[in-house]
Amino acid sequence: MDDDAQPEARLTVLSGPSGVGKDSVIELIRLRSPWIRLSVSVTTRKKRDYETDGEHYHFATRAEFQRLIDGNQLLEWAEFAGNLYGTPRAQVEGWLKEGRPVLLKIDLQGARQVRAAMPDAQLVFLAPPSVEELQRRLIGRGTDDEETIKRRLAHADEELAAESEFDVTVINDFVERAADELVGLLGSLYLAHEH
Ligand code: 5GP
Repeated sequence: MDDDAQPEARLTVLSGPSGVGKDSVIELIRLRSPWIRLSVSVTTRKKRDYETDGEHYHFATRAEFQRLIDGNQLLEWAEFAGNLYGTPRAQVEGWLKEGRPVLLKIDLQGARQVRAAMPDAQLVFLAPPSVEELQRRLIGRGTDDEETIKRRLAHADEELAAESEFDVTVINDFVERAADELVGLLGSLYLAHEH
C-alpha cells in the first residue's frame, strides 16, 4: 500500500499531571513504535542533563519563543511553572496530511487549545494509580529544585481534576502496559513494519 492510500491520521494528545510519567511512556514509544511521530515542542525551560536539544525539546529563549507566537507558527502554547512551551504547527500538520499518527505530550491548557482548534483530536489523560503515588514520584524525581516541585504539586491538583474533559484515561500503573495501551489508541494497525 502506498502512502496516498492512508487515510488522514488523527492527532492524539497525551496529557496528565506533572510527575505522572508522561516522559517515560513517550520514551518507550520512541524506542518501540518509531512509526508514531512525536512532536518536538519548543520550550524556554532549562535543559535537563538527560535531554537532547532537538529530540526532547527545542530549547529557546523567550525572545525566540515570542517570534514563533507572533508568526503564528505554534499550534498551541502555554506557560507552565514559569516557562513557555509550544507545539510547532507545520510539522504536525505535515505528518497528519501524510497519514502518520502524531502524538503530542502537552499540559492541560495546551490540550484545551488543541480541542478547540481540532475537534477531531483524541485526548488521552495519563492518570497516576493514586494521588499519593503522584506526590511520591514528583518529590522523588530529583530533577527539579524545591520551589519548582511546590509549583508542580500545586498544579497537579488542577490537572487531576480535569480528567473528565478527556476522551480516554490510561492509568500509568506500569509504564510498559500504559505505553502499549496508548499505542493501541493511536492505531497499532498502521503499517508498522514499513515505517
Ligand atoms: P517538563 O518541563 O516536565 O518537560 O514539562 C512540563 C509540562 O509542560 C508537562 O505537563 C508537559 O506535558 C508540558 N508541555 C510540554 N511540551 C508542551 C507543549 O508544546 N505545549 C504545552 N501546552 N505543554 C507542553
